[in-house]
Amino acid sequence: MNKKSLRILTAVLTAFWGVAITFFTVFLVFHINHAVAESKDKNPSAVITQDPNSQKPKDPNAANDPNSPKKVDHYVGSTEKMKFHTPDCKWVAKIPEASKKIFKTKEEAIAAGMTACKTCNP
Ligand SMILES: [Zn+2]
Repeated sequence: MNKKSLRILTAVLTAFWGVAITFFTVFLVFHINHAVAESKDKNPSAVITQDPNSQKPKDPNAANDPNSPKKVDHYVGSTEKMKFHTPDCKWVAKIPEASKKIFKTKEEAIAAGMTACKTCNP
């Protein structure tokens, strides 16, 4: 009777460990796949290939530069303050129409003597 109980116990434990290891492996594989998928999402070049309808960035470096997360089709400069902004910056609304200047690229704005706004960091 005791030997039979021991055999049953051993069989149960073996089965339990088999299931536990299977679950652990599945969890591990899922976790790795999830991490890989997440890193793909964070890759800016992958985003661009996924969206062929998005306007091509005027600045070829903009897509790869992690310091320019905003992709805008134009910049708004103030000839009064000599600063340029992204169109959604709160300061754009405060620029008088007479001193507003639209730039297609950051380089154009910089070439015109403008400096980047510290709030919107264009
Ligand atoms: Zn700004």
